[in-house]
Amino acid sequence: MSFDLSSRLAERRAAHLYRQRPRLTSPQDVQVTVDGQQLLAFCSNDYLGLANHPEVAEAMVEGVRRWGVGGGASHLVIGHSEAHHQLEDALAELTGRPRALLMSSGYMANIGAITALVGQGDTVLQDRLNHASLLDAGLLSGARFSRYLHNDADSLNKRLAKAVGNTLVVTDGVFSMDGDLAELPAICAQARARGAWVMVDDAHGFGCLGEQGGGVVEHYGLSVDDVPVLVGTLGKAFGTAGAFIAGSEELIETLIQFARPYIYTTSQPPAVAWATLKSLQLLREEGWRREHLARLIARFREGASALGLQLMDSATPIQPLLIGNSERAMQLSAALRERGILVTAIRPPTVPQGTARLRVTLSAAHSGEDIDRLLGALQQALSSLPEISA
Ligand SMILES: *Cc1c(COP(=O)(O)O)cnc(C)c1O
Repeated sequence: MSFDLSSRLAERRAAHLYRQRPRLTSPQDVQVTVDGQQLLAFCSNDYLGLANHPEVAEAMVEGVRRWGVGGGASHLVIGHSEAHHQLEDALAELTGRPRALLMSSGYMANIGAITALVGQGDTVLQDRLNHASLLDAGLLSGARFSRYLHNDADSLNKRLAKAVGNTLVVTDGVFSMDGDLAELPAICAQARARGAWVMVDDAHGFGCLGEQGGGVVEHYGLSVDDVPVLVGTLGKAFGTAGAFIAGSEELIETLIQFARPYIYTTSQPPAVAWATLKSLQLLREEGWRREHLARLIARFREGASALGLQLMDSATPIQPLLIGNSERAMQLSAALRERGILVTAIRPPTVPQGTARLRVTLSAAHSGEDIDRLLGALQQALSSLPEISA
C-alpha cells in the first residue's frame, strides 16, 4: 500500500478542477505582472486599493525601524507589543465594541472563536454558504453542527427550535463567493428570541460597507447585543494581514484564556500592526474610496447585464458572473487573459457543484475606463468561445 497521489491529481485535472497559482512579479495592484505578462486584474480582495498604498507601505517601514521584524513569541509570553495593543484599541473603536483581539489570520480567528465558545453538548448553526474556515471550525468544535439554507431565517428557526446547550449562529457578513449580504436583522432577531448568540465573519464587509467602513454591522446598525461575536480580517480591504475578533470585555478575556489558535501561535509582526493603523485611518477617513467603488459597481452591473451576463444579487465589490460549467469558466478566464485581463474562475468545491463562476472583484484603485476594458474583453471572449452544454 502506498499513497496514490498521481491518480488523485489526474482525476482533479480531468474534472477541470486543477488549481494553479499565478505568479506575481509586481506589487499587488490593479495592474500586475504575472508570468511576464502585464494584466489588468479583477480578482484581488484589496477593495480599497490599500495593499500597495505609499502611506501604508511607509508606515510598515517605520514600524520595522521601530519594532523590528518578528513578533518573537506568542501574545501571552512576550509577543504582545504596543503596536498590537494600539491597533486593538483602534479596531474596538471602529467596530463600536468594548474590545477587540488581534489574531494572526482570519482562518485562525474563526477556528479560535468557535472552538472557544462551543463544544460537546452545544450547537452551532451555520449558513450553508459560509466560508470554509467557519465550516471547519464548526466540525472541530465537537458541537452539534447543522447548516441552514442560505440566508433563510425560517430554515434557521427550525434548527434553533431543536438546538441544545449554548447555541451559536454563524454567518458570513458579505458572502465571499456571491457578494450578497447576510439578512442580519432577521437572523439576529430569531437568535435573540431563542437565547442564541450570533457570530458574524465580516471579512468582505469591513472597509466597503458603512459610512465609516465599519462593515455590515454599521450598515444595519447592529449592537454588540445583536452580534456578540464580530470577526474581521485585515488582508482584504485593510490591505495588510491578520484578523480580529470584537465583542464584550468578557468575550475577549475568554478568548485570551481559551482560544487555542490565539494562545499557541507567534504574534503577527508588529510592523504589520503599525501599517494597519495607517490603513485603518485611510479606510475610515477617505469615504471617497467607497463612493468611487459604488460608481464602479453600478457601471459594471449595467454593462454586464447589457451583455446578457448572469450577475448575482450583489451590491458589493464582489460581482461574480455565474457560468455553471467548470470547463467553460476556465475557458472564459483563459480567453480574458489572452486579452490582458485577469479574472479567476472559481470552481467546486469552493462553490457548490454546477455553479462555477468568474469571481470579478472591483477595487477603488480601478478607473471607470478599467471597467469598460473588462466589459469589452468579456464581450469578445464570450463570442470567441463555442457554446458548451452544461
Ligand atoms: C478570507 C476569509 C477568511 C480568512 O481570512 P485570512 O485572514 O485570509 O485567513 C475568513 N473568512 C472569510 C469570509 C474570508 O473571506
